[in-house]
Amino acid sequence: MARAVVTGAAGFLGSHLVDTLLADAHDVVGLDNLSTGRRQNLRAAAGSARFRFVRADLTRSARLPAADRYYHLASPASPPAYQRDPVGTLRVNGVGTLRVLEAARRHDARVVISSTSEVYGDPLVHPQPESYWGHVNPIGLRSCYDEGKRFGEALCMAYRRQYGLDVRIARIFNTYGPRMDPEDGRVVSNFIVQGLRGRPLTVYGSGRQTRSFCYVSDLVRGLAALGDAKKSVVTPMNLGNPREFTVERVARLVARALGVPFRVAHDPLPADDPKQRCPDIRRARAELGWSPTVPLEEGLTSTIAYFRDTLQVGRRGVA
Ligand code: UDP
Repeated sequence: MARAVVTGAAGFLGSHLVDTLLADAHDVVGLDNLSTGRRQNLRAAAGSARFRFVRADLTRSARLPAADRYYHLASPASPPAYQRDPVGTLRVNGVGTLRVLEAARRHDARVVISSTSEVYGDPLVHPQPESYWGHVNPIGLRSCYDEGKRFGEALCMAYRRQYGLDVRIARIFNTYGPRMDPEDGRVVSNFIVQGLRGRPLTVYGSGRQTRSFCYVSDLVRGLAALGDAKKSVVTPMNLGNPREFTVERVARLVARALGVPFRVAHDPLPADDPKQRCPDIRRARAELGWSPTVPLEEGLTSTIAYFRDTLQVGRRGVA
């Protein structure tokens, strides 16, 4: 049992991590400025006497609470969300990460940082192992996120080398599941919401670009295992599902799972959209004994149930 601080606690991943840490008997303080996170994601956690929520901007507020472990997940994460606030995105991944590392240093604590597959940019190596340095446009529309996370990783390694801080970096690949924000613009949530509303699914570009989708329970189990691992655990570590799909195939799977006709509207491909992405997870398998277990078809079923509930739509479409 330990005291954990989770930044970005009201977000999609943050809130699931909070639930997992509470279930593992930790005391948890959740921090969020609610810029993209949502209070309703913490409804379950709010019932626990071992949970406390603090609404604060990590980059501006006073000291972080003391803890044995810091999980830093605060950041806008979907392309439309981080592109709406590129400065805030750089700030939370730069200044925010610095503040988390300083707090951990002050309290002699362990840190788990959420980095991203975006550090690989539009990759020239496939699938992506942690040893790949990436192919990133430093001044493009995605750079606030990509370079913000890369700077965050550099900070972590500097604290590790200079101060011996126990830092673990998780490079998180595309993840989906209940508690995604219906409006956050990601591919799985967009397709489900569009299908439920009887609209065509918006496929960007040819739809031949690929992604690999991890169900949220698998991902959070990996994050918790990374936090629990022995100090000598190798970092950074890819966490994601190595089964790769074209975006068009995802659209077909979503339409089938919803029981709606397959209808797409082709929109332009956004700038710098990576053409392929798939994690090499050999390190996580070896170091943590971790691998994902939920296939996309199964994860979609529970994700669709969540969206039906959230949007109040019945089996026949909009209520
Ligand atoms: N995408 C799409 N339609 C949408 C949203 C996204 O075709 O309505 C594509 C997007 O261009 C990208 C992939 O789906 O190639 C994954 O996009 P997402 O925003 O979910 O995450 P990313 O991996 O790009 O950060």
